[in-house]
Amino acid sequence: MAVSNITDPSVCVGDVVRTRKPHPCGGDQWTVLRTGADIRIRCNTCGRLVMLDRESFLKRRKATLSRPDSPPESPR
Ligand SMILES: [Zn+2]
Repeated sequence: MAVSNITDPSVCVGDVVRTRKPHPCGGDQWTVLRTGADIRIRCNTCGRLVMLDRESFLKRRKATLSRPDSPPESPR
């Protein structure tokens, strides 16, 4: 019934996050490339792209290290 855990809105494109378990390459920092039902992230160390469903992503995420302050809105 409660879905608050998987609807955590605090995922934004451009976020740099740290995961609980490091990637096999040794890196533990990732950049969020796309959000939605699935979250696409890129390993900042080796550049590998990984796609996770939102729930899995939120479980693996340990912390958000940085977030773009201003949304990238392009002037018309
Ligand atoms: Zn990696």
